[in-house]
Amino acid sequence: MLLKSKTEQLKSFLKNENLLFREEERYCYAEDSANLRIETVIPDVVVFVETIEDVQNVLKYANIHKIPVVPRGAGTNMVGSCVTNKGGIVLNFAKMNKILEFNPDDMTMRVQPGVILGDIKALAETEKLFYPPDPSNYKVSTIGGSIAQSSGGARSFKYGTTKDYILSLKVVLADGTLVALGSGTIKDAVGYHLNQLIVGSEGTLAVVVEAQLKLIPLPETSVVVTAYFNDIENAAGAVNGIIKERVFPATIDFMDKNSISTVEKFYPSGLNTDKECLLLIEIDGFESSMDTQIQRVEKVLRENGAADIVCISDKEQMEAVWTARRASYGAAAKLAPDIVTDDVIVPRSSLAKMVKGCRDICEKYSLHVCIVGHVGDGNIHPQIALNIENDDEFKNLMSAKSEIYSLAVELGGTISAEHGVGLEKMSYIDKVLDKESIEYMKRIKHLFDPNGILNPNKIW
Ligand SMILES: Cc1cc2nc3c(=O)[nH]c(=O)nc-3n(C[C@H](O)[C@H](O)[C@H](O)COP(=O)(O)OP(=O)(O)OC[C@H]3O[C@@H](n4cnc5c(N)ncnc54)[C@H](O)[C@@H]3O)c2cc1C
Repeated sequence: MLLKSKTEQLKSFLKNENLLFREEERYCYAEDSANLRIETVIPDVVVFVETIEDVQNVLKYANIHKIPVVPRGAGTNMVGSCVTNKGGIVLNFAKMNKILEFNPDDMTMRVQPGVILGDIKALAETEKLFYPPDPSNYKVSTIGGSIAQSSGGARSFKYGTTKDYILSLKVVLADGTLVALGSGTIKDAVGYHLNQLIVGSEGTLAVVVEAQLKLIPLPETSVVVTAYFNDIENAAGAVNGIIKERVFPATIDFMDKNSISTVEKFYPSGLNTDKECLLLIEIDGFESSMDTQIQRVEKVLRENGAADIVCISDKEQMEAVWTARRASYGAAAKLAPDIVTDDVIVPRSSLAKMVKGCRDICEKYSLHVCIVGHVGDGNIHPQIALNIENDDEFKNLMSAKSEIYSLAVELGGTISAEHGVGLEKMSYIDKVLDKESIEYMKRIKHLFDPNGILNPNKIW
């Protein structure tokens, strides 16, 4: 707990109404969406910042007193990235949630860190523009949190992740200094790209207080093609076949048999439960290109033994299919007291091996797994339902995780595609990074944050 005199000092430069001191209030900010077995330390104070100056003042103060600072958006990351395990100050951006500028001609938007992704998308669409990064929970997660995690989503296959849409950032360093990074132009070849270093740094290097985002033209139209398979290898073959046909779908997503039946159990959506897996393929582009794209995709699906191929163009029905896919996590969460989702990625050619390997590993440890994924990228999310308080189940989970990561690495992949490292994957990082790069990354952390106050004990 901070000394009382120190918390009093916060009152001298922040409005009283922006400080939470009561235990029951602070308690709510100790955890995030990760299901972990860790000791959290309730933050000493939660600060709602309203301006860049507020952020500077808090960091200057925290740096002098060596108090941990944990930035927080909506708290929806899955890896314990904003768990407070050393107490300190939670910087809450809920009140820095304004869209500062929307420039349709330059296709850019300037936003504060607390803006919800769904609001960015909705405003862009009013001018037929598009902000593609779409974590499944984009209706609640913030741009600050997404920048810090470099969030992806279903559309990353065609459109990339958050890192591809950041033109410039304003960040506050650990000592309170405000720095502008990047240029706001589409191309920029001047100096090191420090803005890209901040993207994905999980709040450990600097605090984002403003971002200028790149937008792209909104595709004229889209359809979703769904297809079921009796065999995972055939589904993986279809994914590669579609690309060979030179069709570039916006998404190629996947649900396995367990996830389909779990969704149907809790959120009936009319999915077919007697097949091994389902591919959801969203194709977008000009109206005039759609027939050719659909024909090519359907041909590849048929060649790879797909059944029940359906092409959906009605917007409500399309949304219903995506809602079913997005419901997979919530549905799996109803199977047991806890749900743990993972996030591995392999080259597409190893997709079937990864999915099957994951199932075999979970079976070996008697864990119930529902597998979904953005398989165009080779990214799969095993969702494991269990009781984390049960020692045997927890031990099995830890063994399974380690084997899943080893398999991903063996197949040429890595241990996180889009969720990040946080607390959850810290101890596995040396499976994928060599000693030298870890050493350089730690030196970068020390350069940005010599007192180690920014989101301590995360990643490292
Ligand atoms: C149901 C569900 C589905 C999801 N689906 C996906 C998916 O498809 N793809 C995907 O990539 N992710 C997914 N996620 C994870 C999550 O959406 C992303 O990590 C998310 O974008 C985080 O946003 P947030 O506002 O909740 O950030 P938080 O969880 O609050 O914070 C995340 C990190 O950002 C840091 N941070 C927050 N604000 C700032 C700031 N202003 N400056 C510096 N650091 C900051 C925090 O310290 C923390 O390290 C999903 C999560 C849930 C719960």
